[in-house]
Amino acid sequence: HTKLRLILGDQLNADHSWFKELNADNLYVLMEIRSETDYVKHHIQKVVGIFTAMRQFAEQLQNAGHKVVYLKISDSINKQDFGENLRFLINRFKIKEIEIQEPDEYRLQVYFLNLKSTLNKNIHFFDSEHFITKKTELKEFFAGKKQTLMESFYRHLRNKHQVLMDGENPAGGKWNYDAYNRKKLPKKHTPPPPLLFEHNVEQVYKEVLEQNVKTLGEIDPRRFSWPINKQESIQLFDYFLEYLLPHFGDYQDALSEEFWSIYHSRISFSLNLKMLSPKWILKRIESHWRNNQDTIDISQAEGFIRQILGWREFMRGIYWREMPQYESLNHLSAQRKLPRYFWTGKTKMQCLKRAINQSLKHGYAHHIQRLMVTGNFCALAGINPDEVDDWYLGIYMDAFQWVEITNTRGMSQYADGGIVGTKPYVSSASYMHKMGDHCVNCQYDRKIKIGDKACPFNSLYWHFINRNQDKLQNNPRMGMMYKVWNKMENQEDILNQAELHLKNIESL
Ligand code: FAD
Repeated sequence: HTKLRLILGDQLNADHSWFKELNADNLYVLMEIRSETDYVKHHIQKVVGIFTAMRQFAEQLQNAGHKVVYLKISDSINKQDFGENLRFLINRFKIKEIEIQEPDEYRLQVYFLNLKSTLNKNIHFFDSEHFITKKTELKEFFAGKKQTLMESFYRHLRNKHQVLMDGENPAGGKWNYDAYNRKKLPKKHTPPPPLLFEHNVEQVYKEVLEQNVKTLGEIDPRRFSWPINKQESIQLFDYFLEYLLPHFGDYQDALSEEFWSIYHSRISFSLNLKMLSPKWILKRIESHWRNNQDTIDISQAEGFIRQILGWREFMRGIYWREMPQYESLNHLSAQRKLPRYFWTGKTKMQCLKRAINQSLKHGYAHHIQRLMVTGNFCALAGINPDEVDDWYLGIYMDAFQWVEITNTRGMSQYADGGIVGTKPYVSSASYMHKMGDHCVNCQYDRKIKIGDKACPFNSLYWHFINRNQDKLQNNPRMGMMYKVWNKMENQEDILNQAELHLKNIESL
């Protein structure tokens, strides 16, 4: 072989042009290594899921006739490091050149650029052929503009790629149906159950355990429920189209005691591993909607397209424009430690308990749980964004820094001072009650601010408003809240209550 083509664990794109032709000179390499399992403490299902999907991918390449070397986490020759393993393989197979698809994480981009100079081999970078925009496209689009609004980037992309457009106009006459996407689940309404696979992953699980990889969360290795290849990812998406899309937009922001994924697609694991293509998804959604307009309202389709074409590409563009300094932004100077119940679910706050428990159980929480429950709590309590980032980066099946950090540090913690969002996404218990039914089963009372029974979100909300006044009061979207706060009579009691909660944060 002369050429080694390295495939990273989140580059399982079977449709990449690399694989179009069989060439015995190309040696494809995949490796399960400790530097990837250990850069943060991951959910056990995430580690096992990625390795299982990698093994499937390698097998499919081999079956198609490609030459593949696969290093398992348990292999004795595995040096558990990209560079060390590559050195070994270069000698062993007399490799002349290395090719790699551009990594999506800054950490790996820096790593491979450095490796280029130390390995003394040419490393050629290729497009991963996955995203709709180039890494620098957002930066160029917003050059010279004051604000980086997701909505303007999204409209630009709708137009440019003719997604959900009738010529120059948005299909249906409106760009954005966000206002239709805010319904609570009606009482006695049962969404279709999530499609769960049942894989036996005991072998991979055993190998990960034997390596003493430190992980978090739960797993049933005889019934691993996430898709592990392209075929299953498509199946999951088809299930979404058929059963979940009809109400996706309606209940996109809903919270529920009983249902852990409601009408969400759960395709983020497949998408981020590149087992599914966003371009293909957009085409399928649009044609499905066009063919079923009598039963599927445009607000459902637009709501979904906005997430994939809008938010996902926007977050990636911001990441590549802002890294590496983005990693250390802490605009609101939040310093507190993340409470222990983020790893155990043992808290009396029912909304938090549900969101954390299902994250530990499934490696999944939907957007509003991440943003308005766990994220909201961390922002209100002033948790250090480094700790918040590590938690999100570890616990979710779909968590990779390029999309995790802009959502966490930016959108949910406002630690970037407004690069991603125009205002902090914070709220008191009233939002939880408006969007869901957690408060009904909660030991705290959503209606009160002070006393043993008071929901901590209430006084913490005003504490947040008060302590960040100098940074937020001139934000036009926050003006209303400052007016309300400045008129409140029992400010001192509320702040004292919040201080008490913060003092006893571990036992809330
Ligand atoms: P659906 O609700 O069905 O949405 C469909 C798809 O749209 C998702 O699969 C995802 O690819 C995309 N999408 C939706 N919202 C966003 C968003 N805000 N940013 C980027 N893409 C989006 N998403 C990740 O993929 N990885 C992360 O590590 C991650 N961390 C997050 C952390 C916080 C604090 C918050 C608030 C959000 C985070 N998100 C992350 C975004 C979003 O919550 C998840 O993409 C979504 O919950 C995945 O579930 P789903 O596939 O069922 O999504």
